Amino acid sequence: MSSVTIPPPACMLRPLEAPLRYLFGPGPSNVPPRILAVGAKPIIGHLHPEMYEIMNDIKRGIQYAFQTENNMTISMSGSGHAAMECAVFNTVEPGESVLVAVNGIWGERVAEIAERMGANVHRMVKTPGGYFSNKEIEQAVEKHKPVLFFLTHGESSAGLCHPVDGIGDICRKHNCLFLVDTVASLGAAPIFMDKQNIDILYTGSQKALNAPPGTAPISFNERACHKMFNRKTKPVSYLFDMTHLSNYWGCDGKPGLEESWKKHKEVAAYLYRGLEDLGLKLFIPERDLRLPSVTTIAIPDGYEWRELLAYIMKHHQMEMTGGLGPSIGMVMRIGLMGYNCEKTNADMALNALADALKNCKKSKA
Ligand code: PMP
Repeated sequence: MSSVTIPPPACMLRPLEAPLRYLFGPGPSNVPPRILAVGAKPIIGHLHPEMYEIMNDIKRGIQYAFQTENNMTISMSGSGHAAMECAVFNTVEPGESVLVAVNGIWGERVAEIAERMGANVHRMVKTPGGYFSNKEIEQAVEKHKPVLFFLTHGESSAGLCHPVDGIGDICRKHNCLFLVDTVASLGAAPIFMDKQNIDILYTGSQKALNAPPGTAPISFNERACHKMFNRKTKPVSYLFDMTHLSNYWGCDGKPGLEESWKKHKEVAAYLYRGLEDLGLKLFIPERDLRLPSVTTIAIPDGYEWRELLAYIMKHHQMEMTGGLGPSIGMVMRIGLMGYNCEKTNADMALNALADALKNCKKSKA
């Protein structure tokens, strides 16, 4: 079974053609050259430190665009539909009541998504272009007692921008989460997630946000997090499970001093083990007295410390330093602190040291 019987298609040999079009429809929209150019940057790994930095920047950008301080703010891989499913799958359990405002295709789509996962769906229906008064919404919420109420802010099938003020308060009063779709409106019409008491908000990248399709920003406030992380059943989708996604985006930890102290201690302990495995001696023998952010290593016998450090800089583009003041000539120092405090960075430092130890000839007797 070694020969290929299906020949390569001719299209694989042709360069990809993407014609220039004026995308004046309801999205995707044209992307500015500055953003297109970013797509040609080298690929980096999804666990590289630079990636986490980019993800943090994206998170801050979404918080700004959504006008929210929610920590649970991420961007999903997928189009707007991914965020729709993520919102519903994570906050609703089978059998629970969901109320959906349908005045165009997007409400109907969310109703179907909720039905497919076994929710008990109630629709409030208007013809395209119609909108719901807060009174109508409150009456329906009182009647159906939903755990989630869905509204489309920018109903792109009808061209309607639905008023949002006051609806979040109604939902709060009736212990229901308020979910708003802003795929077609974010960046084009004002929305204030925190001030308008919106519990879950999502959008798409390819419309007024000026980015290519394929990623969908979403944010959950404390109320939504409480509901989605205290469920009896697991969400029907593994890919969209916020327990994994929030962990990947670093949203599930409790940012704070205690967390930071703990992390520095753990990463330092990991580094100590690696250094000892390399046969190196830690300068401070008492473990409890070691500074977790800066680790000092006794200069290994037979090595010139400057040579080791220069080798590491030259071949690994990595700074480590010698001693300072009275400790010059006694120690080499590795700092893994703050953003750099990661086990992956400790591994890189250990790898560089191992390489330097192997290749720096012993210049002392
Ligand atoms: N909601 C609204 C209001 C939309 O306009 C769209 C896309 N037209 C979507 C959801 C679905 O987004 P996507 O096509 O990115 O999956």
